[in-house]
Order: sequence, then structure tokens, then C-alpha cells
Amino acid sequence: MSSLLSDANQRLEKALRYVSLPQDVVERLKYPKASLTVSIPVRMDDGSLRVFQGYRVRYDDSRGPTKGGIRFHPNVTLDEVQSLAFWMTFKCAAVNIPYGGAKGGITLNPKELSKFELERLSRGYIDAIADFIGPDVDIPAPDVYTNAQIMGWMMDQYSIIRRQITPGVVTGKPIAMGGSLGRETATAMGAFYAIQTILPKLGRHPTGTSVAVQGFGNAGAVIAELLFNAGYRVVAVSDSQGGIYAEQGLDIPSIRQSKESTRGIKAVYCEGTVCNIIEHSVITNAELLELNVDILVPAALENQITADNAHRIQARYIFEVANGPIRSDADPILASKGILVFPDILVNAGGVTVSYFEWVQNRIGIYWSLEEVNQKLKGMMTQETERIWATAQELATDLRTAAYVHALNRLGEGIRARGTREDYLK
Ligand code: NAD
Repeated sequence: MSSLLSDANQRLEKALRYVSLPQDVVERLKYPKASLTVSIPVRMDDGSLRVFQGYRVRYDDSRGPTKGGIRFHPNVTLDEVQSLAFWMTFKCAAVNIPYGGAKGGITLNPKELSKFELERLSRGYIDAIADFIGPDVDIPAPDVYTNAQIMGWMMDQYSIIRRQITPGVVTGKPIAMGGSLGRETATAMGAFYAIQTILPKLGRHPTGTSVAVQGFGNAGAVIAELLFNAGYRVVAVSDSQGGIYAEQGLDIPSIRQSKESTRGIKAVYCEGTVCNIIEHSVITNAELLELNVDILVPAALENQITADNAHRIQARYIFEVANGPIRSDADPILASKGILVFPDILVNAGGVTVSYFEWVQNRIGIYWSLEEVNQKLKGMMTQETERIWATAQELATDLRTAAYVHALNRLGEGIRARGTREDYLK
């Protein structure tokens, strides 16, 4: 078994100690159902041909069609895509969405491609995987370095291949192509609802709670702003180039405004279009993770906290907005320091939840208001956060294990309903 996936399986092994499931269920969940590797030839703007490597993995579909984002990143490997598909399987079950888990990716640095090239690549990827996906089979969505426009191209290409408009094949689309209101902010909004549900249980209040956010993209920038607006003191943010820190707190809307025009993260305070630099320190991503803050929000990539740096982490609570930001070898070190970790399969489930809402709207042909979407999202996130918190208390275990137990029980029902050894031989 590959390294990232075997690390992901460590969490499963631990959760299995708390549930009594037929061996069939355990065996089924250890391996991805299907993994596809494709080569995507793309005509570049200078006339040359480049062939990119792409993947799509469907991990488990016992609870419904599989669902998962598509990542464009230089580090994408089949191993990574399989692990992300594994997490999607457990995430959908943890928040009770009738989907299995999947993931896709292309190995490239998208910043090196023109927009024309990105469109040809996105359409070429769909040409290559069209028989592997479908609105009742497997439904992609955005992930790192992919966005609504790319999802729009992908839906369009699938519709051309099938000769019928098929909005339900991809979620995270532009609104004009059947996207859902609230999808772009859903991951952060879901994480925000989870944090707000937990905070009173920790005896805390937003005012006086300091936060550091690693990653300032779709998920990270929005969660930073939601927390800022709710009165939290967001003292540090970062992107792939590094981070900024200010003890008194950063003005997140100003930083987002200036990032849009300059592409970089700057510690600014803006009034209208005039932005002034405020007092701050420039920090590395490694330093951001080790800040003495109440809440740390990793919202970039996986394996940011490992046994190598876990003993230097000072945050009291970690909310995993990224997928897999903590490697399993860091778990016991963080636990021994009393750091509570709120796991990715719960905290970032808002994205897939509103993707599900988008798919439902595509199928019924009726579209909901932003208020309706956020109301439904809040209901689901609050309910499942409460349940996972209660499971952790009941089993006297950590929240990640509780979330896996919660998901495993639902996955177990789906697999068991089709018959296991115990049913056939009783
Ligand atoms: P994005 O592409 O919008 O943003 C990624 C951000 O991370 C960028 O600001 C980038 O500069 C930064 N980054 C990249 N490498 C970094 C590094 N080494 N150190 C620090 N920052 C770095 O991606 P996103 O959609 O915000 O996804 C971020 C994480 O959230 C991923 O783990 C993704 O799987 C997870 N997630 C996203 C969604 C979603 O709906 N977008 C849903 C669930 C989970």
C-alpha cells in the first residue's frame, strides 16, 4: 500500500477498535474501488505538444455515487489522489451525505500555463475520464488550484461528449452554468459553523481568541475573513510564498483586497482603494504553524504537521480545513501536549455539503437562495459537529477517532445492506 494512503489507514485502524463491524466491511474499506491513470496531450500556445499525467480515483460507492475534487498541483501523485479519495469517503459518511468518496488530479504547475492552455487541459482531462465519471457515477468538484471556471469547462466538455447538457456531472460550477449560490464560500462557512458550535464547549468567546491561518486560497482566505468578522483576532496568515504576523491582529478584508490586485499577501489596512502597510513581522510557513495562538487553521496542503515539528506546536486547538494537514505520527505528540484536533473529515465538509446541494438543485431544476443554502449547511454542520463531539465524550477518545467511528458506522450499514459473510452463513 502507498505511503500517504497507508498513513490515512492508520486512523481507520484506530477507529476500528471502537466499532464492531463484519470483517467484509473492514476489508472493503482498505482499498480504492478503482484508480484510473490517464495521459492528456495538450497543444501549447507555442505550437508544441505537452503530455500531462492525470488521475481519477473512486474509493468507495456503497453509500452513493462517488464525489471529490480535482487538484492541479506539481506534487499530485496516484498515492495522493487515493488518500484524498479515502478521506472523501469518510467525510461524506461523517456528515451523512449520500455519496461515496473520489478524487482527481493532474500533475502540473498551473501558474505556468496560459488560460487557453488551462482550458485545453481541463477539456482534455474530461475527454480522458468521461467513461469513469457521470452524475450517477462520480461527480468532480474544485480543489487546490482549480476553480469555478475550470469546473464550467469540464461540465461543458462532458455535455459535448454526451450530447446533452449535464450540469449534475460536476459541482462548483459558475452560477450561470448551474452552480449553487454559496458554493465558493462553503468550505470555510462549514468550518466556521463547526468552530462556532465548539467554542462555547471550550468555554471560550470569539473576542480574545487568537487565530493563525496557513493558506490564503478559497478555503483559507474566507475562513480568515469569517473569523475576523465574528470578532476573532486573526494574528497570522500565509500563502505559498510565506506569511505575515501582527500581535494586535490583521485586517483580513484589507489583505484580501490587496491580494486581489497584487497577488501577494501584504499586512495592510485599506480605506477605500488606499492601502497602508501596518506594523507586522514576515514569517515562514513553518513559523506560522508554531505560533502561540489559541486556534491554528491549516488550510493549505497535507503533511504540514508531522513528528518532526509537532513538539513545537503551541496552539491549543487545531481545526483542519486542509485535507490531511497532520500526519498520523504527529497525533500522539499533539495529544500528549493537550492540543485538541478537530479533524478534516468534519471541519472541511462544508464544501462537499454544498456540492451535494448543487447536484440536488441540478437534478430537480429548482435553485435555492443563498440564505436557504447557508441555513441548510449550518443545520448539517452543527448537527454532525454535536454528534461527533458527543461520540468523543462517550468513547473517551479523540475527535478524529470519533469522527471516523461515526463515519464507519454509516459506511458499515451501506456495505452490510448488500450482505456480508455473517448474513450468508447464518
Ligand atoms: P486554493 O488553491 O484556493 O488555495 C491554496 C492556498 O494554499 C493558496 O493560498 C496557496 O498559496 C497556499 N499554499 C500552497 N502551498 C502552500 C504551502 N506550502 N504553504 C502554505 N500555503 C501554501 O485551494 P483551496 O481550495 O483553498 O484548498 C486548500 C485546502 O483545503 C486543500 O487541502 C483542499 O483539499 C482543502 N479543501 C478545499 C475544499 C474546497 O471546496 N475548495 C473543500 C475541502 C477541502
